[in-house]
This record gives sequence, structure tokens and C-alpha cells, in this order.
Amino acid sequence: MSGLNTILSGTCPCCQKSKVFEKSTIVTLFEIPKMRDNCNNCGYKFTKEPGFFFGAMYVSYGLIVAQMLTVAVVSKFILDLENLPTVFAMGITALLFSKINFRLSRLIWMQLFLKKAECN
Ligand SMILES: [Zn+2]
Repeated sequence: MSGLNTILSGTCPCCQKSKVFEKSTIVTLFEIPKMRDNCNNCGYKFTKEPGFFFGAMYVSYGLIVAQMLTVAVVSKFILDLENLPTVFAMGITALLFSKINFRLSRLIWMQLFLKKAECN
């Protein structure tokens, strides 16, 4: 349960006290969220190696597919919309959730490859 808590709060997977990203999502509305290199509290290195977060793209892909399927099901079967508004709603959803997915996918990826032995 602490892993899920860490992902949702955006804190260090080791100490769960310092934020992984420098600014919150609302502040960085028009810029790409910037990660810290190390944890401010325990010094845990967030990026294991160059290209470590390349695999987070697959997590991000899974997140956006789940969100777009949810929007498609709601707009087609509950709101009974036509195809064009449904596709438009799916596109808007992808844009609105892009920053959140970027952050969530990296946090999930870090949690997947967390080794407690590396925590100080
Ligand atoms: Zn830490």
C-alpha cells in the first residue's frame, strides 16, 4: 500500500518524504515536468542509468489507452454521442492527461524497479 501511496503523492520511493518532481502539475501547466536527480532527503538516485525512463513510455501508453477507452465507453454508451464527438473527447482527454501520465508513468516505473537495498 505504501507503493501506491508513494506513486500518488509523487514522493521518493525510499524515504517517501521528498518530492520527485520540482513543481506540481498545476504549476507546470505549459512546461514539461522536471525531475530532480536525487532525493533531497535521503539522496536516492532517481535515474539509475541513461535511458532508464525509456520504459516508462510503455506505462504511459497503458495509462492513456485505459483513459481513452473509459472516455469512449462513457461517450458512446452512456452519453450516446456520435463518432466524431467521441474521437474529439478522446483527443482532449489525451491532451489534458499528458502531464499527469508523464509523471505517473515515471513514478510507477521507479516503483517497479525499486530495490530496497539501494535505499540508504
Ligand atoms: Zn528519499
